[in-house]
Amino acid sequence: PTAIPADLVEGLNPPQRAAVEYRGDALLIIAGAGSGKTRVLTHRIASLIATREAWPSQILAITFTNKAAAEMRERVGHLLGEAVEGMWISTFHSACVRILRREAEKFGYTQGFTIYDSADSKALLKRIVKALEAESMGVTVSTAQNRISALKNELIDPDGFARQVDSTNPRDQLILEIYRQYQRQLERNKAFDFDDLIAQTVWLFRAFPEIAALYQRRFRHILVDEYQDTNHAQYALIRELTRGAEPQHVPADTRIPLAADGSIPPASLTVVGDSDQSIYAFRGADIRNITEFEKDFPGAETILLEQNYRSTQHILDAANAVIGNNFDRRPKNLWTAAGEGAKIVGYTGYSAHDEAQFVADEIHKLRDGGISFNDMAVFYRTNAQTRTLEEILIRSAVPYRLIGGTKFYERAEVKDIVAYLMTIANPADELSVRRIINSPKRGIGPTTETAISIFAQDNDITYREAMGRAKELGLGPKVTNAIGDLEHILAEAEESIDPSRNTGAVSVSDMLAKLVQRVGYVEKLRATGNPQDDARAENVEELINVAKEFDKQHPDGTLVDFLTEVALVAAADDLDDESGAVSLMTLHTAKGLEYDAVFITGVEEELLPHRMSADEPGGLAEERRLFYVGITRARKVLHLSLAMTRTQYGESSVAMPSRFLQEIPDALIAWRQSPGMATSRGGERPRALNATGFGAGSGGRRAVGSRSYGEMPRGEGLKSEFKPTRGNRQFDNQITGAVKDNSDLVLEIGDRVKHTDFGEGTVRNVTGLAKKRIAEVEFDDVGRKKLLIKVAPLEKL
Ligand code: ATP
Ligand code: MG
Repeated sequence: PTAIPADLVEGLNPPQRAAVEYRGDALLIIAGAGSGKTRVLTHRIASLIATREAWPSQILAITFTNKAAAEMRERVGHLLGEAVEGMWISTFHSACVRILRREAEKFGYTQGFTIYDSADSKALLKRIVKALEAESMGVTVSTAQNRISALKNELIDPDGFARQVDSTNPRDQLILEIYRQYQRQLERNKAFDFDDLIAQTVWLFRAFPEIAALYQRRFRHILVDEYQDTNHAQYALIRELTRGAEPQHVPADTRIPLAADGSIPPASLTVVGDSDQSIYAFRGADIRNITEFEKDFPGAETILLEQNYRSTQHILDAANAVIGNNFDRRPKNLWTAAGEGAKIVGYTGYSAHDEAQFVADEIHKLRDGGISFNDMAVFYRTNAQTRTLEEILIRSAVPYRLIGGTKFYERAEVKDIVAYLMTIANPADELSVRRIINSPKRGIGPTTETAISIFAQDNDITYREAMGRAKELGLGPKVTNAIGDLEHILAEAEESIDPSRNTGAVSVSDMLAKLVQRVGYVEKLRATGNPQDDARAENVEELINVAKEFDKQHPDGTLVDFLTEVALVAAADDLDDESGAVSLMTLHTAKGLEYDAVFITGVEEELLPHRMSADEPGGLAEERRLFYVGITRARKVLHLSLAMTRTQYGESSVAMPSRFLQEIPDALIAWRQSPGMATSRGGERPRALNATGFGAGSGGRRAVGSRSYGEMPRGEGLKSEFKPTRGNRQFDNQITGAVKDNSDLVLEIGDRVKHTDFGEGTVRNVTGLAKKRIAEVEFDDVGRKKLLIKVAPLEKL
C-alpha cells in the first residue's frame, strides 16, 4: 500500500485523522451531531482505495436511507471519481435485496421475487386474521403486523416463536398461527416483506455457509453509518459478514489472501454513531449494539469526536441544553468554532395556517438574504402536517419538494399497475394477481376469484396456472373468456420482455405502456368523466414516465430491477440538489442531513413529543432525541414554530407549547408572535398552558381562537375573525371534552340555522358523509363559512 494522499487527511482534526488512518479490525466512532462522522467514513473509504489496500468491490458501506446513500456515493465520488461505481453504498434493505436476488434460486425462490410493502403485507394478513376470526380475540391486523415485524427484527421465525410462546396465552397462540400462515403464504407467493429482506439474508447465511463465504470473501471493509439505529437483525447481518470463513467453505478461486490454514480472515468493520440520535427504538433499534460494541468486537478501537463543524454556537447550545435532559446518557462535550451566529427564531401562530404562513414568509426573506431554496428545509413530526404547509407554500409561491413518504406508490391505481408488473415478474405471486384480476373491472367477481384460489390449492398449482385452466372451473363463458383474455395479455407482456426471444426484449417502459393500453386501464378511467378518475389516469401515466426515466438511466435494466427500485426507492426519496426547492420532510427522514436554514414546525405537546410516546417506556426520551436531531440539522438559521390551535381530522383543538421549548435557555431564542395575537406579549416564550387552556397568570397567553372552533380551516379568513373570548361555551366544551355531537343534525340546502357565534344564516351546501359532513352556511352578518356539522354549535331554526 502507498501512503494516504495528503488531500484526504488535510483539514481533518486529529481524532478524525486517526479514524481515517486506523487499520485494525474494528473501529467505533462515537460522537455528537455534525462532528464529521459521515465525513470520516467517506474519507476512510477513499483512503482505502487510494492506498490500494482495497479495491472498490471490496467495500460495503451501509447508510440508513436511500437519500443518505446517494449523498455518501456523491461524496466518495467527489473524492475518488469513477472508482465509486464498483462499491456497494446502500441501505441495509437494498444490499440484502441484491444478495437475495443473486442467491434466490439456491434456496427455492425465484430471482424475480416480489417485495411486499407494508400495505401488501397488511392485505395478506387481513385474509388470515379474518379466516381465523382473530379480531374477536383482540388480535387485529395491525397487532399481528407489529408483532410479526418485531419477531423478524429479533430473528425469531415461527418455529422459534413456537418454542418460546406461552402455551397458556391464547392470544400468543393465535399470533403464532397467524405468523405461520403468513410466512407460508409469502413463501408460496415467492414474496418477501420488508423485514424479511434482512432476516432472510441472515438465515440464508447461517444455513449456507458457502454462500456466506462468497460475501465474507468479497467485502473486506464494511462501514456502517448511523449504527445507533440498527436493530438485532441488522446487527446479526453485520456479524455474519465480518466473521470470516472456515477453510471448508471458502470457494476455490478466491483471489483474496487467505490465512495460512486456508480460511478467510474477518473483514474490517467501522461503525459510526451517536446514541443521542437513536430514534428508531419503535422499530426495534437496539442501542446496545453501540454501547456493547467493544464487548462484541474485542480489541476494537473507539474514537470520540468533539468538534462540531456544522452549526453555530446558539444552535449547538440549544441542542446541548435539550439533550442534557435525557438522563441515561454519557455527557458529551460538543463545541464549535463557528461563532455565535444568529439567535434561534421562535414563532407562535394561532393556527397551523398562520404558522405555515410564517414559514413561507421567512423562506422568502432568507432567500432574499442569499440562502437558496435548496439550502432550506422544513421538518415536521407527522405527515399529516404537510397538508397545511403545502397549501400555504403553494399559495406563497415557494417551490418545495416532499422528501420520503410520498404517497404516490400507495395510490390504488399505482399499486394496481405495479401489481400487474409484479405478476409478470413473479407468476407465483398470488396476492398481486388477485389484486388485478378484476381491475379494471372485467366481470370477474369475488366468487370466481375465490374459486380459482381453491382450484389452485386443490391441484397444488399456482393461481396463474389455475387461471390458465379456467375452462375446467365450470364458470360461465363470459367469465371464462375474461380470465382467458387477461391471462393472454399477461403472457404477451411476459414474452415481450424476455431477452431470449429472437427480436430481443422491449424496454420496461414500452412493455408497461403497451400493457396499460391493452388492459384499457387509462382509457376506462378517462371514460368516466369523473375528475378524480382523471387524476388517477394521470398517476398511471406518471408511472409510465417513471419507467421511461428508469430505462434512460439503466439501459440494461430489467423489470425486476425496476420493481426493486419502486419497492425501495420511493421516487421522492432521492436527492436532487439542483431542484431549487425547499425540502419538506419528517424529523425521522432528516437524520444525517444538513441545511443552512431549518424550520421545525409543530413544536407542541402531543405532536413533539408525540402523544403516542407517553405510553412507551423511554418514549419521551426518544422524542427528545428526535427534536435534538432536528435542531442539529441547521447550519446557520433555526426556526422553531408552533400553533395555538391545530385542526386534525376536521377537529380543532388547543395546542400547548412543547415542554422541550422550556429546555432551551431563554437567551438563545428570539420569540416573535403572530400578528393576529392581539392579547399576547411579544418577545416572550409561550408559557405552558394550564389545564383550562389559559396562561397561568394574567400576562400569560390567552388561548386560541374559539371562534374558529367547529369551522374548517380556511387560512386567511381566520385572522380577522380572531377574537379571544374567555369562558365561551363551545370553548369550555372543547376543554372538558364534553363536545356536543351534532352528527345527527339533518340539514338541507336552504335551511335556516343558528350558530352560537356567527348568528343566523342559510345553508348553501352540504357535503361529505356521516361524521365528516360539512355545511356551507351563508351567515347574515359574517358571510359564508364551512362548518363541520358534527362539532359546530349549530341549531336548525
Ligand atoms: P450527523 O450526526 O448529523 O450525521 P456527522 O457527525 O455525520 O453528523 P458530517 O455530516 O460528517 O457530521 O459533518 C457535518 C458537517 O461538517 C459537514 O458539512 C462536513 O463537511 C463538515 N466537516 C466535518 N469535519 C470537518 C472538518 N474537519 N473540516 C471542515 N468541515 C468539516
Ligand atoms: Mg452523519
